[in-house]
Amino acid sequence: GRMISNLALLIIVAVFYRVYSFSMLSSRKWFPLLNLTQHRAVSKSAGRLPSLGRPSAVARYARSCAHVGYKGMLMKSVLLSQLCNVGSSSVRLMSTSPLGASLEYLVHTQPTIVKKALDNRDYKALTLANGMRVLLVSDPASIRSAAALDVHVGYFSDPKNLPGLAHFCEHMSFLGTKKYPGEEEFSSFLSTNGGSSNAYTDAEDTVYYFDVNAQHLEPALERFSQFFEAPLFTESATARELNAIESEHAKNINNDGFRLHQLDRDTANSDHPLNRFATGNKHTLETQSKEQGMDLRQELVMFHTQYYTANLMTLSVLGNQSLLELEAYVKTHFSGIPRAADTPSVSIQSTRAASSEDPQSTGILANPALQWWGKVEPFSSTQTAAHGLEVVPIAESRSLTLSWPIWVRSPAERVELRRTKPDFILSHLIGHEGKGSLRSYLVQKGWVNYVQAYTGTEISDCQVFDVHIDLTEEGHKHRVDVASAVFAYLDLLKQSTIGGTGADKDAFGIPAYLIEEFATLSKVRFDFGEKGDPASYVSTLVANMQVFADPSVYISGPNLFDAPDQAQIRHFLAHLTPTAARVMMVAPDFKNHTLLTGRYYGTEYNQKALVEETQTWANVRAVDFPELTLPAPSDLLPKNFDLVSKTDTSLLSDEEKAKLLMAPPKQIRNDEKWQIWHKLDESFRQPKVHVVISLAVPADTYNADFVVQSRLFSNCFTDSINEFLYEARLAGLSMELDINSHGVQLILSGYNDKMSVFAEKIGAALRNYQPEAATFERYKEQLLRELNNWATQQPYSHASYYASVVSLTMQHTVEEILTATARTDLSTQKAFLPTVLARSYGKALVIGNIDTPGAEKLVQVVQETLPFAPLPRVERAQRKVNVLPLTSALSLASSTTQTTTVGLDGAGHLEGY
Ligand SMILES: [Zn+2]
Repeated sequence: GRMISNLALLIIVAVFYRVYSFSMLSSRKWFPLLNLTQHRAVSKSAGRLPSLGRPSAVARYARSCAHVGYKGMLMKSVLLSQLCNVGSSSVRLMSTSPLGASLEYLVHTQPTIVKKALDNRDYKALTLANGMRVLLVSDPASIRSAAALDVHVGYFSDPKNLPGLAHFCEHMSFLGTKKYPGEEEFSSFLSTNGGSSNAYTDAEDTVYYFDVNAQHLEPALERFSQFFEAPLFTESATARELNAIESEHAKNINNDGFRLHQLDRDTANSDHPLNRFATGNKHTLETQSKEQGMDLRQELVMFHTQYYTANLMTLSVLGNQSLLELEAYVKTHFSGIPRAADTPSVSIQSTRAASSEDPQSTGILANPALQWWGKVEPFSSTQTAAHGLEVVPIAESRSLTLSWPIWVRSPAERVELRRTKPDFILSHLIGHEGKGSLRSYLVQKGWVNYVQAYTGTEISDCQVFDVHIDLTEEGHKHRVDVASAVFAYLDLLKQSTIGGTGADKDAFGIPAYLIEEFATLSKVRFDFGEKGDPASYVSTLVANMQVFADPSVYISGPNLFDAPDQAQIRHFLAHLTPTAARVMMVAPDFKNHTLLTGRYYGTEYNQKALVEETQTWANVRAVDFPELTLPAPSDLLPKNFDLVSKTDTSLLSDEEKAKLLMAPPKQIRNDEKWQIWHKLDESFRQPKVHVVISLAVPADTYNADFVVQSRLFSNCFTDSINEFLYEARLAGLSMELDINSHGVQLILSGYNDKMSVFAEKIGAALRNYQPEAATFERYKEQLLRELNNWATQQPYSHASYYASVVSLTMQHTVEEILTATARTDLSTQKAFLPTVLARSYGKALVIGNIDTPGAEKLVQVVQETLPFAPLPRVERAQRKVNVLPLTSALSLASSTTQTTTVGLDGAGHLEGY
């Protein structure tokens, strides 16, 4: 459902914000960890992160919460909760609410809130008198409204003897409030008005959010605010909701993500809240609490009273109303949320300016993390050898994860880490897939499928840096060697001197060009990234607001790498040693060889000090791995983002905007070789261009063999330039090579600035491509397997396939394709491109931020790198649509059907040949 896909987006967005590694932009890289089947980039689920469940069919539990655990342990921590007039002066205003209460609040006259380059929404940050920090987003174009509220308390604050209380509180908040006592009140209001809601409980935060049709924002906000002001927590709901918690746990219990996370927690310091059980279950919340003589409802009320205090909350509201209206809504409905009486008054001192290691002096007394921050070490630091875990997974998966927990001892240290983000550049480099990368080396060896580097756990007082490697069976056998390669790459980073400015030892560091490139990439990604849906957006904003105290970076804070610091990078890198590593090895091979059982999930595992291995890894030197090198400077990085069209479309009427959007491309060339169509984009206003180039082949060439050869050619060619394509993807450029209805088709898209460089390189790579026997056999094998499995496909794929066979000409049966695949070989593969280029006819469509001469020039680049002789119209392959006779029986082999020409390109304005 939509709720889940919203959530999927939220998680994807969160991953993008927090993982820092652009390497995950490649389809296999990061997404396999998330079992979010709604998202196009998700391919499979394996690995460490728990998947999201779908809402249960049972109505009461349909509002399945987004679960505890994965998000918290994974991608963000929330750090500082304080009044946020940092670096800005504030105006104190007085106003009277419709309720008659005096509402004193602060409006920040902060430096302008940094927003994305093309973001035309208006923002306003303010703090209510009760201490709640608010970010208003006015988007006149939005047909949906959304709000999110982040309470800076999570399962880390569960009482030690009552695991799951924070999560339970999240569930119970939905089940009736003093003003709206009906258990289904909020959800039915939203579903009646096109909306939905959800929530998740994180380690240090609980986030609630909803969306609704724009005009129903205010009544939705009113209902929502009551969760925090006066929830009922009725006895009967308390008893029943325990079943929802239990069914959630039952769903998680066979999920490797949850199991492995818990194992991490099991091996953390038992006095640190990391050691907790995030979700709780019926046993911990009901049975155990009864045995201890506790009253669960009473505990719930106490928890809510203590922590659901306005000064620990951040709120973001997005609507198509004006900022003034939104402000009025928020003042009216959220000023009544109490601020706990026993919370010490919050200083307005900036945490950034905090000079002392003592959190007491930083003005963040309200933060629950201060109960343990700096006092309890998250993981033992006394280990003298790498800490090994051998784990039996539920799924058939093999992986190796090296983790380094870094104790962040004070809020000041945390703020500095946040600002300089040394983990950004390190995960970018370690997770790189270009030439000389760790992945390239390990894939070459046949040991790994992918390598990922990211900050896995980020909580107030701890940052865990992970290198996660998905292993092949062979890789599992060589796991010590795989880890050696990781240490060799780390050594390469530590030894890196090329970027130094002088001979002194402090000059060494990551080369300056890499840092600059990465900062540019972060900026480009931030400025021109997709605009998420309103609910995901506000959920991200409230989490940012807990992390960044300065309103000017509420939006950009987690995204921009603009304050790199070599000393910080070096310091961070120094933590990544063999001795300090935690090494989680996951493989079915450990089955029946384990001695220990994990808490709550029953994970089978062993725990051991990897003494010999540590010795081996300590002796690894980069010089012994000449294959490993740092990425070379990129010539594909966009620098110019100027828009060609100077039309200010915001001044146009809706009809004029629609007219611009619907205007067809214009034909700018039509001769014996090319037909070129062009449209300058004035609607989306992104510095990007999309190019579709199609080459028609002779009709008698387009047979089943051609179809098979083009598929294998596309696979093998793409595989051969994988490293280059990865580097291009980093720079926001992508390529697809495909078969279409009359020949082959090349699609290039991305930032227009370097598009012609990219097109030229792709053209040259195509011209110089020499198919390799091993790669060819691998893809041929794969295609045969796919075709042989076709019979087991879902009925709907069979139906749509047969529909195309009867309705189109030049459509081949599976049997024909299978036969053609079986007889194809490397020599036909070598002849493929020369055949296409011998005689051809090109059609190109160029759309985006590019003028007519630019479009012509771009096609010229392709023409020059891939020259061909013209192909007369009558000889061109041309798929046609069969006009089916109105008879009762139809044979697949029917030759009596008439054919008629229809444009089948999917680009409606292109004519047939
Ligand atoms: Zn839940």
